[in-house]
Amino acid sequence: MASLILSKEIPYTFRDASLLDLKSFVGGEWRSSADDKTFAVEDPSDQKVLAYVSDCSTADYEQAIDAAHTAFMSYRRLTPLARGKLLRNWAQGVRDSTQDLAALCTLELGKPLTESIKSLTYAANCLDWFANLAEQGCGGETIPNSGNGGQNRIWTIRQPVGVVCAITPWNSPYSGVLKKIAPALAAGCTVVHKPAPETPLCAIALSKLCQRAGFPPGVYNMLTSSSDSAAAVGSLFCSHPLVRHVTFTGSTAVGRYLGERCGANLKKITMELGGNAAFIVFKDADLNRAVKELLACKFNSAGQVCISANRVLLAKGIEKDFTEKLLAAITEKVRLGSPWEEDTTLGPLYAKAGASKIRLLLGDALEIGATLLTPDTYQEGSTYYPPSVLSGVTSTMRISREEIFGPLVAISTFDTEEEAICLANAVKTGLAGYVFTENVSRLLRVAEALQAGMVGAQTGSISAIEQPFGGVMDSGLGREGSIHALEEYTDIKAITLAL
Ligand code: ADP
Repeated sequence: MASLILSKEIPYTFRDASLLDLKSFVGGEWRSSADDKTFAVEDPSDQKVLAYVSDCSTADYEQAIDAAHTAFMSYRRLTPLARGKLLRNWAQGVRDSTQDLAALCTLELGKPLTESIKSLTYAANCLDWFANLAEQGCGGETIPNSGNGGQNRIWTIRQPVGVVCAITPWNSPYSGVLKKIAPALAAGCTVVHKPAPETPLCAIALSKLCQRAGFPPGVYNMLTSSSDSAAAVGSLFCSHPLVRHVTFTGSTAVGRYLGERCGANLKKITMELGGNAAFIVFKDADLNRAVKELLACKFNSAGQVCISANRVLLAKGIEKDFTEKLLAAITEKVRLGSPWEEDTTLGPLYAKAGASKIRLLLGDALEIGATLLTPDTYQEGSTYYPPSVLSGVTSTMRISREEIFGPLVAISTFDTEEEAICLANAVKTGLAGYVFTENVSRLLRVAEALQAGMVGAQTGSISAIEQPFGGVMDSGLGREGSIHALEEYTDIKAITLAL
């Protein structure tokens, strides 16, 4: 039903329509942008306008930073139990509103509804996990030292850094967002969040639930803005004197730019950037298992995930067997269709631009000698991209160096373990990698040798809130998830006490 909020009919009726809004959440209030500008949000499944939300400018964000700073003065002193309770309330709100939140994710992202629903469990778990850490506190040490004739003791405590600004992408509008915000709030920081222009309705609904959870005004602020405003907002975050930490997930190019700006102003930054994961399958691997894991790793969210398998490296001799099994599994399991249909496992890409990038990489690979093993049924201009498999990929092809971000499997081969490691590490990014072999020594050897922040050994599913999530080299700095996420949002203070 079309509503005052949505500009078009959708195949879903919201249980709680008050989760929908077009405004931004600043200092505990819902506001339009100061200059009343808006921008259009598109439904990727038909590329029609879904809603017009506030296009906040730097003036709006400055107010939010002030509100977050004021809120920090008291929020930092909230007891660990009280912070934990607020995060648990938020988690419960997310669980109670799973269906509506999932529908918004499907609407804005084109993610199949069943996948969207699953992603909400991860999001709620994230809030509960950090509620628990908020309650436990960040710990500290007592260090004996030799100053003052051995009469000094050094204590360390961890204190919240202050105002944290978060910039998030479109591909994971709940768990990807909460992986940043929940640890910051657990640590006692306050937050100003700029969500991706593609998924503002998800961010708005999440903020409504945050408000209902009882967080004091200004602790969490969320402002939507268009792509045109992004660079100015980013610059403000990196230079504003009251901002102590910037946390960003997105492309390496934007991360590098923000990193330079934060460096110039000596601000802390956490960056989760692009990947180019190798998925290595050795001769002695259980091929059925490897194919099953590849399917989960590659087609989740239509491959639009930074830890998706970008380069499938197969030991020479298994490629025929492996590709036959892969093609059969795709035919049996992958259903391209409307994200609202229950049996759809592959929805549309988030935008036409995603399909254009795949066509570019595919065209380049085919020209240099790769072979497409699946029928090329893609229709120009569509956001629906069919599951595709490309063999004969070599390291000179662009598809080996760039993120595909789509449901196209690119297969290369290797002779030896050394060559597999060398091929896997021949890129500047280092986010995730995957290894399949029944030889435990080789499994560990290769897992240790991969230049990546995360390795799936005999698995293609590595996302979990308990896991330190992040990369090395061009894939970023710092870790999200796990207890290490709290370190990002706290400073160590050493207190020397003379006895
Ligand atoms: P993607 O291609 O995955 O969207 P981007 O890095 O372009 O990756 O975008 C990720 C997030 O960064 C989005 O919220 C986007 O609006 C924001 N963004 C894009 N350019 C800039 C910039 N120059 N400064 C700050 N944020 C930016």
